[in-house]
Amino acid sequence: PGASGWRSGGAAMRDQWNREIDYLRISITDRCNLRCRYCMPEEGVTWFEHSQILTYEEIIRLCRIFYELGIRKVKVTGGEPLVRKGVPWLIRALKESCHMEQVTLTTNGVLLKEQIGGLVEAGLDGVNISLDTLNREKFLEITRRDQLSEALDGLEEALRYQELNVKVNCMPAAYNLDEVTAIAGLAKDDPLTVRFIELMPMGPCAAWPKERFLPVTEILNRFPALEEIEPNGVARRYRLPGAMGTVGLITPMSHEFCGACRRIRVTADGKLKGCLHSREEISLRGLHGRELEDAILRGILQKPKGHHLTEHASDTPRTMNEIGG
Ligand code: SAM
Ligand code: SF4
Repeated sequence: PGASGWRSGGAAMRDQWNREIDYLRISITDRCNLRCRYCMPEEGVTWFEHSQILTYEEIIRLCRIFYELGIRKVKVTGGEPLVRKGVPWLIRALKESCHMEQVTLTTNGVLLKEQIGGLVEAGLDGVNISLDTLNREKFLEITRRDQLSEALDGLEEALRYQELNVKVNCMPAAYNLDEVTAIAGLAKDDPLTVRFIELMPMGPCAAWPKERFLPVTEILNRFPALEEIEPNGVARRYRLPGAMGTVGLITPMSHEFCGACRRIRVTADGKLKGCLHSREEISLRGLHGRELEDAILRGILQKPKGHHLTEHASDTPRTMNEIGG
């Protein structure tokens, strides 16, 4: 690699470990309409000032450069991205003026019912809906808000759009293990992917006792009939006999997937992060042209080989809602 990155003749970016980087996750707000206990405290959050948050125009300008450097897929996240106004405008611009091949959104689903039509029309390719429980009281306990029915309505509405790739993300922990069969069952009658993702010790849950975290492989014990489809990569996919959809396991803790990581992140306040768990950040705000390209390539070079979550909590001083989960 040269002093400012590893790239030649329009080829995709590679980091110093030779991983190809083509996927950007961008947080468009740190605000949220829920307060999931593992992600945010109920009170005392210091929000970014509005002036600190990247404007849509800034995001689009950055993403044009990201495209030139080889990024082809963008995930819009937060905080809760749908609490910010005008997301369809952003989706359309990412597709049409930045030429991104795949634009997806991660949401808690609460505001999805009324917004999904506009998002699909704008070109959204897929939506990941986070859902840790199907039980109203437990939803209230986990998210501190009584909005399960809104989240389920959002999911149902999303499933009306056949062209949309719908995934449900569930984080199994000690408190919802009894529900994983029911949650996986969402894939029975609909062509969606249910993904179980290990909780990572960062933000509020960094201080939780170890017993509350659950290796996602526990899930496998509950589904002896699961047949593995794809053993490699970040998500391992399984077929659930008789189901229209599939089940995925994402094991950042127990089976480190860093070797297959193709992603970089931009925080709501415009900092480039090579890894969710590292302290290193590069501010992209106010940079233009060659200076901006160099900063991005430097960030990619700094992407660490892996995390150390099995030894200690995340190194990042940030919470998930700021970085973008
Ligand atoms: N608000 C949206 C949502 O909940 O889908 C998008 C942002 S949220 C930070 C993105 C994802 O990060 C959610 O699926 C959430 O469950 C996950 N998440 C939050 N804290 C986490 C943690 N400590 N470990 C693993 N995943 C986490
Ligand atoms: Fe909000 Fe998503 Fe964090 Fe829950 S996980 S508090 S929905 S940002």
